[in-house]
Amino acid sequence: MSNHSPFGIELFDGVSGEELFSVNMGLTYRDFLVLPGYIDFNPSDVELETKLSKNISLKRPLMSSPMDTVTETDMAIAQALMGGIGIIHYNNSLDEQVELVKKVKRYENGFIKDPILLSPEHTIADLDAIKEKHGFSGIPITEDGTQSGKLVGMVTNRDVDFEPNRSTKLGKVMTKDLITASQGISLKEANDILRTSKKGKLPIVDTQGRLVALICRSDLKKNKEFPYASKDDSKKLRVGAAISTLPESRDRVAALSAVGVDVITIDSAQGNSSYQIEMIQFIKKNYPTIDIIAGNVVTQGQAANLIAAGADGLRIGMGPGSICITQDTMAVGRAQATAVFKTAQYAAKHNVPVIADGGISNIGDIANALAIGASMCMMGSMFAGTKEAPGEYFYENGIRLKKYRGMASLEAMNKGGDKRYFSESQKIKVAQGVSGYVVDKGSVLNLIPYLIQGLRQSFQDMGYRTIPELHSALRQGKLRFERRTESAQAQGSVHGLYSYTKPSMRVE
Ligand code: GDP
Ligand code: 5GP
Repeated sequence: MSNHSPFGIELFDGVSGEELFSVNMGLTYRDFLVLPGYIDFNPSDVELETKLSKNISLKRPLMSSPMDTVTETDMAIAQALMGGIGIIHYNNSLDEQVELVKKVKRYENGFIKDPILLSPEHTIADLDAIKEKHGFSGIPITEDGTQSGKLVGMVTNRDVDFEPNRSTKLGKVMTKDLITASQGISLKEANDILRTSKKGKLPIVDTQGRLVALICRSDLKKNKEFPYASKDDSKKLRVGAAISTLPESRDRVAALSAVGVDVITIDSAQGNSSYQIEMIQFIKKNYPTIDIIAGNVVTQGQAANLIAAGADGLRIGMGPGSICITQDTMAVGRAQATAVFKTAQYAAKHNVPVIADGGISNIGDIANALAIGASMCMMGSMFAGTKEAPGEYFYENGIRLKKYRGMASLEAMNKGGDKRYFSESQKIKVAQGVSGYVVDKGSVLNLIPYLIQGLRQSFQDMGYRTIPELHSALRQGKLRFERRTESAQAQGSVHGLYSYTKPSMRVE
């Protein structure tokens, strides 16, 4: 443990976590600060390895929410590459959700697994249309234009740019003499072939000559290494999927399990229900290898029931989300920091990690959540508006925006998102969330390293190198906290300036 005095002095100022949360009042992340410890290491020495659930460890304590404006394939891939995990939402059909999960499991860095294909019967005009829509023109040609047909050629701009007749069939102009590589080749080997052959594309084929992937020369430099990527035993990226407590979810679990989902999140706004307990027991009995994240809960009593039922992880939060109006509408919930501390205190005794879900809008909130016992932070608004979030960008007053909506907003509920809130279909829907817009935050592949660097600096200030060390100091009362008055909060934020520029989270 690093948080010691070099002179052996033990002087504890402030209060312990237990004392901080013993007040009969709900606290949020803003209501307290962690007191600084002793620094004898660099931020780069901080390791952020953590537990998502009883059986799954991750290198980073960050994850994206199962919301239809946050987590689909691209987000889940990016989260896993960066060492966290994405939970695919279920505001879709069973087949659609399974397909999203399957794509994450099939992902290999640098390999395009479902490239756009054409057949020899297509024309140059078809190629022009692809170029217009997607921006690329290096297209593999298979017998029937699908991945089940044999690879028979490639067309690129160079094969067609001087051809005046755009109705010419591709079979006539395609290059047939191809350099290919066999399925199973590593990215490094594939890159070496592209480098020496000087070709723009390398098709990867199986033993029957069918195309299984495509590698592009233009991606060579972009193929970054992801040393912290979250992977399963067969080296595939990890991914989670959310389900409801409705009976139809049993079919989802079967189908999701068949495609190798790593973790199932049972998504209820109030998780302490007979429906959820039955669902946990059903999954545990029939799919014992899948870890279950149950929730949401905010009290020790709720947590105890779900842990007793067999939950491997708990999601904490009722009402703190940025798009959420539950507390105002239902008068039920809990202030988020108190909810995280209390549930984590109980769950730690059962070795069940807790996930702080919702209400996190900056690095300090993440650090505070971890300091009071969370093992992971789940975020919606933080990752909404990134390139990897579903949905198209649009401009309003010159600002690039993307939609972000609560799963219990009327808009999402009308698409089927109310499964989280109701156990029977109800005609009158009371929204517990809103629909809005967030600004463009660039790519998650840049945003997460920024959050992680900030978090490492915060750990250095607290004087702890790892999450388990921080949690052990919390439990022993060695990690010290202090409440903040409203004026302390005002003083801790920018004040007294005529104007200033807020640091952007958009990292290029
Ligand atoms: P091209 O030579 O006109 O095909 O274009 P480049 O090779 O310069 O760029 C193609 C870019 O699009 C690369 O970054 C690819 O990873 C990306 N891409 C994504 N999906 C596909 C696909 O289905 N086919 C091709 N050819 N490229 C794709
Ligand atoms: P954020 O990170 O944006 O503050 O909060 C995201 C979290 O809010 C989600 O992970 C989920 O737990 C919760 N959430 C998502 N949609 C809704 C909603 O419509 N109403 C409520 N009450 N919570 C929501």
